[in-house]
Amino acid sequence: MSELSDLYQEVILEHNKNPRNFREITDADQTADGKNPLCGDALRVYVAMEGDKIADVAFKGSGCAISKASASMMTQAVKGKTREEAEVLFNEFHEMVTGGLDVETDDNNLGKLKIFAGVLEFPARVKCASLSWHTLHAALSGDETVSTE
Ligand code: ZN
Repeated sequence: MSELSDLYQEVILEHNKNPRNFREITDADQTADGKNPLCGDALRVYVAMEGDKIADVAFKGSGCAISKASASMMTQAVKGKTREEAEVLFNEFHEMVTGGLDVETDDNNLGKLKIFAGVLEFPARVKCASLSWHTLHAALSGDETVSTE
């Protein structure tokens, strides 16, 4: 488990320092704002669709290292995916960080996102890790705001 924790910390710090797709999409088809009042994380997620496919996805905002790293990896994971594939990932991610899915034994498509299983050890951080996913889900559903409270 300590090996996973080391990897977890390394990846979080790296993505926090160099977040991917950290920009606005000026002609986004859908945007949503996500807030995690408990920690003070606030993100806006931008989605540009091409038919049913997520052609581009990006985020802006401020928050703790975990929320930012998670948003960064979320954009990498869903870019090029269909709406449906992104929803599958959203559900699997949510299940993973709330303990409903064991990444070692249960079938999943999480790939690199598995490192966030480490957040289970820090219950206060679960909302930080899942904020960007809830915000993406809101954007894909046509909702404009989401709060973890
Ligand atoms: Zn946070």
